[in-house]
Amino acid sequence: MRPATRALVIVGAGHGGSTLAALLRQSGFDEPVVLVGSETHIPYHRPPLSKKFGAQGFRQDIRPSEFYADNDIELRTGTTVTAIDRSVRTVTLSTGERIEYAHLVLATGSSPRRLTVRGCDTTGVLTLRTVEDAAALARSMAGGGELAIIGGGYVGMEVAAVARSLDVPVTVIEREARILARVASPDLSQMLTDYHRQRGTAIRVDAVVEGILEQGGRATGVELADGSTVTAGTVLVGIGATPDDALAHTAGLACDGGVLVDSSGRTSDPSVFAIGDVARRPIDDSGTLVRLESIPNVTEQAKQVVAALTGLRQPEPEVPWFWSDQFDIKLKIAGLVRPGARIVHRPGKREGSFALYHLGADETVHAVEAANAPSDFIAGKKFISQRIPVSPNALGDPSVSLHEVAGATPVGS
Ligand code: FAD
Repeated sequence: MRPATRALVIVGAGHGGSTLAALLRQSGFDEPVVLVGSETHIPYHRPPLSKKFGAQGFRQDIRPSEFYADNDIELRTGTTVTAIDRSVRTVTLSTGERIEYAHLVLATGSSPRRLTVRGCDTTGVLTLRTVEDAAALARSMAGGGELAIIGGGYVGMEVAAVARSLDVPVTVIEREARILARVASPDLSQMLTDYHRQRGTAIRVDAVVEGILEQGGRATGVELADGSTVTAGTVLVGIGATPDDALAHTAGLACDGGVLVDSSGRTSDPSVFAIGDVARRPIDDSGTLVRLESIPNVTEQAKQVVAALTGLRQPEPEVPWFWSDQFDIKLKIAGLVRPGARIVHRPGKREGSFALYHLGADETVHAVEAANAPSDFIAGKKFISQRIPVSPNALGDPSVSLHEVAGATPVGS
């Protein structure tokens, strides 16, 4: 038997690590908990970094600083776990110290994917993941000049909206034929493209970046494959993120585009768990493993690990969801957006509010994209989790209540 002094060690003091530590204490877990994080800050929220970086207050702590000591959580900020030795169950820290673990949880997150074109390391070419990144973006933009955003994903479009609200000229450069191509329906992409363009954002699609233009070591623009250029003193690269699974990989844990885990967050080693952006996990009975990057995802996985470590019942699976704020649009997306779904447009009660329901062949809802439409988001989530067939005609008719939609006989039956 292992000595009782061995701790639960959590690697990564971001959203997942800090949430897990807090939930464990809430559930009565009384063994030592050590939360090790490379960043020098106490755990903070990342969503405001792309939504509020131009204003004061983009740095928002997840919990007050005294929370950790008050709850007997040993928080080691500014400290990196450099190695895991599974044979003796220890981790090595950047301080040279070793800590023995009873269980280990990897919550190392992900890192921005880097551009690999000429000039990509020039001053003024930035990515956005940390508070320092957000401060650097705000500083660079305050220096004047245009902003080019490479990548029309959610983070890029949120930054574009903030920049336009500050009157900064913005160009979004997207390689695909539409913004949000991997994560939103064509209808939502189009609606957001129009909304951004009406507010002055230039959006270039089917645009391949050749290189960064520079003068005196500072970015001055982006050169595209068609020979055209986009002038910009600040270039934000928002082309996705890759899981920080090197530590797990080196330790011999099964990894394939993220650390592979089961529905309780357990890796190929039963004493090691992985949660959040770094993990690939099952979300339904199909056995397919997915890697999601969202707060609801990491929170759900933290709950799964709490159940596994305390012997509590595993929580019911949740419908994956995500949110994004762009200008005055509050988007909430539930389920996984997949190509080929039948899209039913449901106008909302307020001007500019609507929901796009994604239906499968069996007329069950697979996903819902709700813009300023919280009731549709809640109803859509319920339709997805309960696999309730809906009538597309009733769904598209705002005079039919969402309650009636669920009860309606599916078309064609
Ligand atoms: P993180 O919160 O990234 O934490 C990982 C931590 O581990 C980091 O602090 C890292 O430094 C540390 N670490 C890594 N390796 C080591 C090591 N070896 N030793 C010690 N520490 C280590 N999600 C939403 O749902 N809605 C949103 O609107 C939204 N907006 C976002 C906006 C931005 C700009 C970004 C970057 C993300 C956004 N997300 C959003 C995604 C969300 O923030 C992440 O999915 C979530 O933070 C993942 O939590 P995590 O614990 O897996 O990783």
